[in-house]
Amino acid sequence: NEACMLQLEVTRYGQDEALVIVRDITRLHNLEQMRRDFVANVSHELRTPLTVIAGYLETLQSSDMAPPAWKRPLTQMEEQAARMTSLVNDLLLLARLETSERKNGDMAVAVTELIERVAQEARSFSGGRHHIEVQCDTNTSISGDPGELHSAFANLVLNAVKYTPEKGEIHLRWRQDNQGGHFSVEDNGIGIDLIHIPRLTERFYRVDPGRSRDSGGTGLGLAIVKHVLLRHNAEMGVESTPGQGSLFTLHFPVGKLTSKATPAVNSEA
Ligand code: ADP
Repeated sequence: NEACMLQLEVTRYGQDEALVIVRDITRLHNLEQMRRDFVANVSHELRTPLTVIAGYLETLQSSDMAPPAWKRPLTQMEEQAARMTSLVNDLLLLARLETSERKNGDMAVAVTELIERVAQEARSFSGGRHHIEVQCDTNTSISGDPGELHSAFANLVLNAVKYTPEKGEIHLRWRQDNQGGHFSVEDNGIGIDLIHIPRLTERFYRVDPGRSRDSGGTGLGLAIVKHVLLRHNAEMGVESTPGQGSLFTLHFPVGKLTSKATPAVNSEA
C-alpha cells in the first residue's frame, strides 16, 4: 500500500494509434529522496563544528598568543574553514531548493533594487578591479522569493567577476518585452567552450576546477540558479566565446511580473 510513483510516456502514431509506456519509478524516486536527505543532514551536522573551528582560528589570529611562525598556517586554515562554510551553506541551500515547498508564498521583489544590491556586492568582491555597470529599462517586480532570487542573481554576477581578468567590463541589464522580463549579465572574461555549456548547471561541474577553487567557487552556484529558476517558471540562456566573454540571461515569464511607476536605474563603478 506504499505510495507508488509512475512515469508515463505517450508517443502518438497518426490519428488513432499511440504507444503508452508506464514506468514504475518508485524505487528511483525513494533513492533520490534518500540522497537529498543525507546531503542535507550531513551539511547541517557540519555547521556547528565548523563555526567552532572558525571562531577559535579567528581568536588565535587576532591575539598575540600564537607565535609569528604560525601566522601563515593559521591564515591558510582560516581560508579553508571559510571555503568549507561556503560549501556547506550552498549544499544546504540546494537541498532546500530541491525538496521544500515555499512556506510564505510569493512576494513582490523589486528588480532594480535587487540588481543594485547584487552590483554593490560584486563591486566590493571585485575590490575595484572590474568596471561594473547597471542598466535597468523598467522598474518591475518579480513575484517570488526574495532570498532565492537574490541567490540566483548574485551567483551570476559573482561568477562574472571570478571569471573575468582585472580591468574587465561587466554589464548587468534588465529589460522587458511582450515575452517577459530579462536579466542579463555580460562579461568580457575567459568565456566557456560550447561543449561545456549543457553541463554547467550540474552540481560540481567546473570547466577549470583549479581556477574555480582559487576564486572561492563551490561548484554549486549554477545548480542553485537552475533550481531557483525552476521554482519561478523561469529559464536561463547562455552564450559564450572562449577568450571573449559570456552572456548569461534569466528569462521571467509575463505572468511573474508587475510593473511599478518608479523611475529606472543606471549606475556605474
Ligand atoms: P563555481 O563555484 O565553480 O563558479 P558554478 O556552478 O557557479 O561553480 O559555475 C560552474 C562553472 O561554470 C565554473 O566553474 C566555470 O568554469 C563556469 N562559469 C560560470 N560562469 C562563468 C563566466 N561568467 N565565465 C566563464 N566561466 C564561467
